[in-house]
Amino acid sequence: MPGLTQVVGRFAPSPTGDLHFGSLVSAVGSCLEARNSDGKWLLRIEDIDPPREVAGCAIRIIHDLQRLGLVPDEPTLFQSTRLDAYQNAVDRLLESGFAYPCGCSRKDLPASGIYPGTCRKGLRNKEARSIRFRVDSGNSGFEDKLRGPVTATLAETCGDFVIRRADGLFAYQLAVVVDDDFQAVTQVVRGADLLDSTLRQISLQRALGLVSPEYMHLPVVLSAEGTKLSKRLQSDPVRDRDPAVTLEQVLHFLGHNPPPALTLELLWDWALSHWNHELVPRTNTTLPTLS
Ligand SMILES: [Zn+2]
Repeated sequence: MPGLTQVVGRFAPSPTGDLHFGSLVSAVGSCLEARNSDGKWLLRIEDIDPPREVAGCAIRIIHDLQRLGLVPDEPTLFQSTRLDAYQNAVDRLLESGFAYPCGCSRKDLPASGIYPGTCRKGLRNKEARSIRFRVDSGNSGFEDKLRGPVTATLAETCGDFVIRRADGLFAYQLAVVVDDDFQAVTQVVRGADLLDSTLRQISLQRALGLVSPEYMHLPVVLSAEGTKLSKRLQSDPVRDRDPAVTLEQVLHFLGHNPPPALTLELLWDWALSHWNHELVPRTNTTLPTLS
């Protein structure tokens, strides 16, 4: 339809561990939400933190997604190829006064982790280490497609946050914002553990004059004890499981009830025609068991 922007969704894993059930929920949810609106679904590998990355992990994630029938509509974007764009955004934020150099080291920061704004007015003979983004003292918020209004005061929850680290690497928040714009992403569907990040990313988008995508935060997968999945369970790769059974389990977790024992292809057909984000639970739940 002319005049209407095409829906573009994305899945953006960091290659710091194999694809596990929790990340797969975001992959499937983002894909169904986009394709159900005749949109495109993209894949972005967020490989900008080499010290935390696991060798071979990016390729394994791509293969595991493929095996589950999750193939992006465009070539995969690797953030490691985009460093000039991130530097350009940092420069723009410095020039416009939205960002400033910070000379504090970890030991200068309060135990709360909330940056008190020490270097806002200048470095006072300290050497610049990182670059921080100046947050607004007021409320920031957005309308979550599933959860409704989400608000927080960034000055109280995190303070001015780092956009380029002391080791020269770019912060996750900055790279995500630059690339969601670069890839013309119109909707971000991901786990509710990233709600805080969304508020920071929206502040960055405003400062850079970018349009914010629509956001929808999916429930987080909890262990049987009701806590966030442990590192061990989180790293339990989905590779060794039957893809159709795994996808069926993800759909159940997302509040959908496909007929049992479909093939992977038929299960995708069913999911694409039955997807309704209103059915997705608002609260975090445990892994569903299939009979
Ligand atoms: Zn500082």
